[in-house]
Amino acid sequence: MHKQSERLWERGMSRRTLLGMGWKGMLGLCLAALPGCDRRQEAPKAPENTAAQGPRKGFVTPTPSPWYSQLSNGRVRCELCPNQCTIEPGERGVCRVRENRDQSLYTLAFGNPVVVQDDPVERNPFFHVRPGTRSLSLSTAGCNLACRFCEVWDMALVAPEDVYAHNMPPQRVLEHAQATNVGAVCYSFGEPVVFYEYMAAMASLVKEAGMLNLMQTAGYIQPEPLAELLPYLDAVNIDLKGFDPTFYREAVGGDLDPVLQTLKQVRAAGIHIEITNLLIPTLNDDMETIGAMCRWIRDELGPDVPLHFGRFYPLYKLIDLPRTPVATLDQARQTALQAGLRYVYVARVPGHEGEDTYCPNCGETIIDREGFMIDFVHVDNGRCRYCQTEIPGHFI
Ligand code: SF4
Repeated sequence: MHKQSERLWERGMSRRTLLGMGWKGMLGLCLAALPGCDRRQEAPKAPENTAAQGPRKGFVTPTPSPWYSQLSNGRVRCELCPNQCTIEPGERGVCRVRENRDQSLYTLAFGNPVVVQDDPVERNPFFHVRPGTRSLSLSTAGCNLACRFCEVWDMALVAPEDVYAHNMPPQRVLEHAQATNVGAVCYSFGEPVVFYEYMAAMASLVKEAGMLNLMQTAGYIQPEPLAELLPYLDAVNIDLKGFDPTFYREAVGGDLDPVLQTLKQVRAAGIHIEITNLLIPTLNDDMETIGAMCRWIRDELGPDVPLHFGRFYPLYKLIDLPRTPVATLDQARQTALQAGLRYVYVARVPGHEGEDTYCPNCGETIIDREGFMIDFVHVDNGRCRYCQTEIPGHFI
């Protein structure tokens, strides 16, 4: 058994349990395990951070944000994401973490992560970033979108006061990452765009320490703040939730175009990208649209960008829909391969052939996976062991 698998078994979880839960199910366990956590309570008014140790409810450290402009009548406009919220005095933007205080913008998502956990890098998911290694996953509360199928709604679609959070300024995150001997920090789970300043501060320290910075995001961010962040990032997984503007407006709560712009900007910066597309029965599983999305990825980003088709499970506001049929995932994968994409994956179907990585030249299996566990990696110095074809990503 691979050493990563051994570690997970040592934690007392069966392989079947892990595979059945998926990574966000595991997150639910993590949240529930926070001492004293009872998310059914009404949130109290946020106290200031008094630097207490350990997770605490209503734990915030208001921190100035530079991403705003002043408007008339004491209002401000946040310029971090395409929502461009106009915020009244004392109020917050759509993401619930950015507040107008005396006509200055403050973020309440700084140094107070709800989730800090040591994960296989595959869980985020990154399939072409040091397979079989671990990363420190981290997220605060808040999100700038409102997906009807959100899998972490009790963390993402709430204010920081509503959840328990740890007191972890950036330096402490770095020390924790070094102590746990991970190779990367991944800004993930909820939506890292809303804790932008915190992420940027951590990313600077992490890079200096020689670890990788990974971001898993919906990509809903303005070009200017993204440009300032990109020099610190090593790999980005972007949720491209669909390819239909109407679906984006109605089911995601945002616009498609800014996400496409983000994908192009990250690619143009030469940063490794992977894309995740959750297939939801009847909402975004039309094969013509999926084909158009795959051709867009091929033409605008290149055929080597890995694409992960995710299996939907009934959650949040879409509990009446069924799970994604495996046949739909198979069809989507074939559509992507026929469009010319070279690395197409199927997630959350244990044992599916779409979990593995195949060399696009010789066809050999070069990374064998089951869920987020690795059985072997036959990529040496970034090349296929069998035919020496270069494989995109970060390999040891
Ligand atoms: S980051 Fe938050 S406050 Fe700023 S524009 Fe986006 S949703 Fe609005």
